[in-house]
Amino acid sequence: MRILVVEDEKRIADFLCRGLQGAGYAVDEALDGASALDHIHSADYDMVVLDLMLPDMDGMTVLQKIRNRKVGPPVLILSARGDLEDRVKGLEQGADDYLVKPFAFVELLARVRALLRRGQPAPEKLQVADLTLDCTRRKVIRSAETIDLAPKEFGILEYMMRNKGRPLSRTMIVEHVWDMDYDGLTNIVDVYIRHLRSKIDDRFPQKLIQTVRGIGYMIEAPEKAADQGIERQV
Ligand code: CA
Repeated sequence: MRILVVEDEKRIADFLCRGLQGAGYAVDEALDGASALDHIHSADYDMVVLDLMLPDMDGMTVLQKIRNRKVGPPVLILSARGDLEDRVKGLEQGADDYLVKPFAFVELLARVRALLRRGQPAPEKLQVADLTLDCTRRKVIRSAETIDLAPKEFGILEYMMRNKGRPLSRTMIVEHVWDMDYDGLTNIVDVYIRHLRSKIDDRFPQKLIQTVRGIGYMIEAPEKAADQGIERQV
């Protein structure tokens, strides 16, 4: 995890860098807006801690430039300006959190950790019992056997596996996989689930896709589903 600290007061910058390094992060320091932007353009940061009052440009400008990038890291704003207006403006312009000076280092660290957890990339491989879905290579394997899925089938299975053990309604599945409001056409989910079952479940004794009565579907190893009183209807 790599963090960029943008702060023109050397004493505070050093204090933040030392503290974050002590907490196990790789930390770079930028003492003004221009060098902050240089850093951001030349390295991938998992997070930016940004002071708003910089000598060469307003921290809001730096924030805007970070937000103009396709994939920007989370930004935690630091400022002596504690009034509500600045706070709202910062959050409106895409800051993820806001801390008013002076602050205790433990408070900063707690917020950094929370933001980094939130921004953590999804796992590359998803697993339910002996079923593996490789998100990067777009491959599905069950019991060492590769299974070919159509793109929408893959999308539904990936969504279900990311939400393993959580019942998903047909509407949730439709909205997630079709990316638009398919209101009234949620029957399409049943059709796709039938296809998915024929490919990943029917030939195997353990059935992973569970029907949750009154809700929709869920993927889970069957013994766990039984514990939760969820029955599979065929
Ligand atoms: Ca400053």
